[in-house]
Amino acid sequence: MANKRVLVTGAGGFIGHHLVSFLKNEGYWVRGVDIKEPEFAETQADEFELLDLRRWENCLQATREIDEVYALAADMGGMGFISANHSQILHNNILINVHTLDAARENGVNRYLFTSSACVYPEYKQMETSIAPLREEDAYPAQPQDAYGWEKLVTERLCTHYGEEHDIEVRIVRFHNIFGPLGTWEGGREKAPAAMCRKIAMAKQTREPEVEIWGDGEQTRSFCYIDDCLTGLHKLMRSNYTEPLNLGQDRMVTINQLADIVANIAGIDVVKKHVQGPQGVRGRNSDNTRLREVLDWEPEISLEEGLSQTYKWIEAKVKEKYNVEQYHTAD
Ligand code: NAD
Repeated sequence: MANKRVLVTGAGGFIGHHLVSFLKNEGYWVRGVDIKEPEFAETQADEFELLDLRRWENCLQATREIDEVYALAADMGGMGFISANHSQILHNNILINVHTLDAARENGVNRYLFTSSACVYPEYKQMETSIAPLREEDAYPAQPQDAYGWEKLVTERLCTHYGEEHDIEVRIVRFHNIFGPLGTWEGGREKAPAAMCRKIAMAKQTREPEVEIWGDGEQTRSFCYIDDCLTGLHKLMRSNYTEPLNLGQDRMVTINQLADIVANIAGIDVVKKHVQGPQGVRGRNSDNTRLREVLDWEPEISLEEGLSQTYKWIEAKVKEKYNVEQYHTAD
């Protein structure tokens, strides 16, 4: 792989930053691009450029002399962010994806991998907590819950048509809740596993056992650890599969169970306080039948193992930032 020149967009973000390190380990030459530097650790990219990929000329610069693109840049966050910023998300992500893909074509990029999402799946298939796992073909007839999912679906189609009509090969992955260390853990864009780790780490430090959970906590999801995500992404890029493919775990848990697992890792008892908040769809799980067929592989790191790595990192962040030892001075 030493001669392959790869671009990772969104390389300042959670998955992109890890992907740069993974690809460097595999022997690729890597350029990372983002509007921000990675927040928690230095990039290992050979080149890192700060560029706003909503602009066409910046996309041309990003994709120059590149063989393969992993397109991860997106304006995104957890349910709190996604359910409250529809116009901004649709506007920014359309511009990023239309321009990055077309610049890649213009610059003669061979292969282009677009990171889509389980958010493309229709709301009507996700109305109960115990739903059937979602197969790739379930995306149609389309009815994603949020603008974020609509944009992902349209960009999937854009990629497919570019693959059919231009000299560029495409790969399309649909992530199902990827989590791990070095991801956003506070500030409003964090997703459920990171938010849960933060809340429970705070409860542990302050010895105030109440932990807020949005809704009744019975909404279900599956969660996939970052290391499995990276392995799957690379395998998909190296495959010859051009249709959208799920990439996630297929073990479904409720958000209440997620809280119990994290509390167990933290070694404390928590009191769940159910409050009003955006919950997203009621139930969601990944059907990995096609993933197994296409890649002869599926995610293998357990939720408990992934969460203990993530919790350890977030607990350290909480201690560092809030200096919560002060709460213990009366002891
Ligand atoms: P992230 O928010 O950590 O990373 C996205 C990065 O894109 C950020 O660093 C951000 O600064 C960058 N970006 C935003 N606007 C940009 C612009 N105009 N120009 C250049 N860069 C810009 O998110 P992530 O979790 O690492 O997700 C990576 C990709 O995977 C995204 O496309 C996301 O939609 C998709 N995805 C992620 C998950 C998940 O569970 N994390 C699930 C489904 C899909």
